[in-house]
Amino acid sequence: MSHTSAQLEHIYALLFERFGKRHWWPADSPFEVIVGAVLTQNTAWTNVEKAIANLKAAGVLSTDRLHSLAVAEVARLIRPSGFYNQKAKRLKAVVEYLMDRYKGSIDAMGEKNTAELRDELLSIKGIGRETADSILLYACCKPVFVVDSYTYRVLSRHGLADERMTYDSLQQIFMDNLEHDVMVFNEYHALIVELAKRHCRTQPRCDDCPLSELPASLL
Ligand code: SF4
Repeated sequence: MSHTSAQLEHIYALLFERFGKRHWWPADSPFEVIVGAVLTQNTAWTNVEKAIANLKAAGVLSTDRLHSLAVAEVARLIRPSGFYNQKAKRLKAVVEYLMDRYKGSIDAMGEKNTAELRDELLSIKGIGRETADSILLYACCKPVFVVDSYTYRVLSRHGLADERMTYDSLQQIFMDNLEHDVMVFNEYHALIVELAKRHCRTQPRCDDCPLSELPASLL
């Protein structure tokens, strides 16, 4: 096992021991994961929950119902998530893609090879790497590690990454050094988010942080 693999596994063990299972992604269906992944861009999750509740209350949280809805109506329903006109167009583009390529079936989409599917998702206007990878991991159960600004922060503070790294090169650290296990990838990303919210903030709270127990060589 390489030094980096050992470090990443150790960090995972410490986080899991402290925070336990995170039960991500918080959604009732794979389609809801996809909608949440689009809506969560640049906003707090509580705002996404309100927007999703509106879609559910209107009975339109499905590929076919969203497909037949006008962009303006989608925008009205998802207003709490912010940037609602832009996000409505993105949601409609994702639904269009699902209907065109997979007749609206996320199961059918999930059968596609991961690399090709990632390219397809990234070709949809407004869908970036973090959103595409969240869809791959949490909606399609593909072994793809999701990184975000919290991942940059935590790893760079422990000398494992550099904040100037690209998204793909940071992701590659995890992909190259961990077994490609969907459940571990699922938990690991969620645990880093929890860590960043509770301890590894802009002003870090290291005192009772689970990673403050790391051997000095990792700090
Ligand atoms: S809060 Fe401190 S110990 Fe915890 S992850 Fe951030 S830098 Fe490391």
